[in-house]
Amino acid sequence: RRSPMAAPLSTAAAGWLSEAASSPPRVRLLIGGEFVESRATEYVDVTNPATQDVVSRIPLTTADEFKAAVDAARTAFAGWRNTPVTTRQRIMFKYQELIRANMDKLAENITTEQGKTLKDAWGDVFRGLEVVEHACGMGSLQMGEYVSNVSHGIDTFSIREPLGVCAGICPFNFPAMIPLWMFPIAVTCGNTFVLKPSEKDPGAAMMLAELAMEAGLPKGVLNIVHGTHDVVNNICDDEAIKAVSFVGSNTAGMHIYSRASAKGKRVQCNMGAKNHAIILPDADREATLNALIAAGFGAAGQRCMALSTAVFVGGSEAWEDELVKRASSLVVNSGAANDTDLGPVISRQAKDRICKLVQSGIDTGARIVLDGREIVVPHFEDGNFIGPTVLAGVKSDMDCYKEEIFGPVLLLMKAESLDDAIQIVNRNKYGNGASIFTTSGVSARKFQTDIEAGQVGINVPIPVPLPFFSFTGSKASFAGDLNFYGKAGVQFFTQIKTITQQWKESSPQRVSLSMPTSQ
Ligand code: NAD
Repeated sequence: RRSPMAAPLSTAAAGWLSEAASSPPRVRLLIGGEFVESRATEYVDVTNPATQDVVSRIPLTTADEFKAAVDAARTAFAGWRNTPVTTRQRIMFKYQELIRANMDKLAENITTEQGKTLKDAWGDVFRGLEVVEHACGMGSLQMGEYVSNVSHGIDTFSIREPLGVCAGICPFNFPAMIPLWMFPIAVTCGNTFVLKPSEKDPGAAMMLAELAMEAGLPKGVLNIVHGTHDVVNNICDDEAIKAVSFVGSNTAGMHIYSRASAKGKRVQCNMGAKNHAIILPDADREATLNALIAAGFGAAGQRCMALSTAVFVGGSEAWEDELVKRASSLVVNSGAANDTDLGPVISRQAKDRICKLVQSGIDTGARIVLDGREIVVPHFEDGNFIGPTVLAGVKSDMDCYKEEIFGPVLLLMKAESLDDAIQIVNRNKYGNGASIFTTSGVSARKFQTDIEAGQVGINVPIPVPLPFFSFTGSKASFAGDLNFYGKAGVQFFTQIKTITQQWKESSPQRVSLSMPTSQ
């Protein structure tokens, strides 16, 4: 699964990091095509979650620097919007080639800053790469519509035009894939962009920006600012920014949705999740067990499409021993080690929050059938590790069920029937994804029809759609009305304009003040 073209990043001395004089190195801003040192006085540490080593530091971008980034994007827009779509596509063709050639470097950076295993980090880059591949067909995706002769000598057509400066605000859990959900679609539609990577793991976004410029993206088309709340609020408030894409928690997402839309911007927010699997007694046992283990504990449960809750029709007792046996055999270690199944969670605060939610489940009556909270990983004693953890007998009113845990914790629940199981899922406020495991087509079809979740898996544990579809979380997992990537993504980043034109020989006509109708 390694890229056949693996080669080092061609712009050697990582222009996005400050020179060695400062240790740890400082992550630069990208403004108008140049990686520049921030003049910020405050910095935030980027920490390796397996070791607590400080890898780099990000600046809290100053107000002037933020304005300079937006100005650079605004200036670049005038030329970029008139650049032929074929030229914009060609840059994406080159870009996908460069990403492929640097997959291993990108994955290494993700493992260092985010903690996930190298193989999983490789998948993080690959799923983003697929969006870049999709953007290579923008000429067709952005195509308008035409009806000739809607009235005598009159034709109507619609075109999709870029909006102007757009912005993206990213979470920590997919440092490559999520920036790539955003700016490749936006810029290939003819927009310019200001990206704010997660303050916890900005490296992959910086490397991807460096590659985008190497692919030929003109100066100012993509700009990067760093920081936390203040820079996010600046993005929401700035009059020049026309659209905001956000992925992250509900607290931040709903704040951003209301603040940016109050300023008249279009906003799409992908947010938190509690994804359920319903397991029917007729499910293929081996495939279901593998799916639950992989989707429950992969990426240490820090995927928005992780299956965190398994609802067993008839009860979980007959499944528990085998689930515990398989979960216990997973290797918890630094993501950089070859045989690791689970790396650390992102921070000490995240580990504390996860452990507290597990304890609250026990305190309110859940049975802990596998407890990974006390795990110590040799040579990585300071890492934020949690081993696979399984809570059984979980009820809908427990905090561990109501809150998103975002860690390697699988909750087991009981339902009396398929109808009962569907009701449990539908009562949950989130609607990112839900899966069913069954060999009955009739049950699967009922589930597909009745379930209230945006992304439905039938014997598929993490049904994240490829980029020709859209990422369609619903209910509290999404705010906005145009989803990420796919057709909706192109619609989000373009304004539709409808033109009605008349070309005919001039002939004397009487003026009519009545509403024009076509006869
Ligand atoms: P987060 O909300 O803490 O941070 C996301 C971004 O918002 C960061 O760039 C951060 O700087 C900024 N931010 C955080 N709090 C803010 C505030 N109060 N005001 C303004 N900006 C703020 O999320 P995270 O911990 O980085 O990511 C994990 C969350 O993201 C989980 O809830 C997960 O389910 C969700 N997520 C959802 C999807 C999806 O597609 N639905 C995908 C990935 C992650």
